[in-house]
Amino acid sequence: MTLAEHIDINVLAKRTPGLVGADLANIANEAAIIATRLNHSKITMDDFEAAIDRILAGPEKKNRALNPEEKRRVAYHEAGHALVAENVPSGQPVHKISIIPRGVSALGFTLQLPVEETFLSTDAELKDQLAILHGGRVAEQIVLGSVSTGAQNDLERASEIARNMVCMLGMSKKVGALTLGKRQQLQFLDTEGTEYRNYSEETARLIDSEVLLLIEEAEARATEIITTHRAVLDKLALVLQDKEVINRDEIIEVIAQS
Ligand code: ZN
Repeated sequence: MTLAEHIDINVLAKRTPGLVGADLANIANEAAIIATRLNHSKITMDDFEAAIDRILAGPEKKNRALNPEEKRRVAYHEAGHALVAENVPSGQPVHKISIIPRGVSALGFTLQLPVEETFLSTDAELKDQLAILHGGRVAEQIVLGSVSTGAQNDLERASEIARNMVCMLGMSKKVGALTLGKRQQLQFLDTEGTEYRNYSEETARLIDSEVLLLIEEAEARATEIITTHRAVLDKLALVLQDKEVINRDEIIEVIAQS
């Protein structure tokens, strides 16, 4: 394939962790198709990025037209994730924010890229992740005075992380360094498995309250960051509504200007 200059292999590698050779070949093919469609004589970095977005997040659904109020909400939601990601200690830099609907149900996405490869997460880093996941919903609440169904996936992911922190990773002082509950995976059956409960009703209530506490802390942190940097949030949301996709350079410019 004929590549244009300035193909950043590092960025492509960071965007495709865990993919096997066949997936990467698929992405390279997709990039070539996109380049042809756009009449590029060489495959550009943008073509590669568009190919990765398409393969990993699903095709753009331009016909899923959001009304202006919905578009504004999605813009604030994604800007909220991005702003919190940029302001928690372990937040990875935001590489791209998009409010173009994709795949089955996504209305937008905020993509962070790791500075380096890591294999472990500390409790502080997981708490940062919880705050980032809640950033979208919190931004909607602060700016629009209401929350929406757009945050469902964020809440699912955050709940799972918080529950694992308490039940599996011993990261709650009150519960202690125990693993609670065992998943019984039925071999050869494609099921989630049923949870085998090896703790009392009292512990179950303690788990629930500790999980809720982690979520409330995350909401409070997201709220503080978004309130403190409200001007950046407004500007990011405005640029997003206008351009639909913004990249790292533009994000840095908005932060610098606000
Ligand atoms: Zn979200």
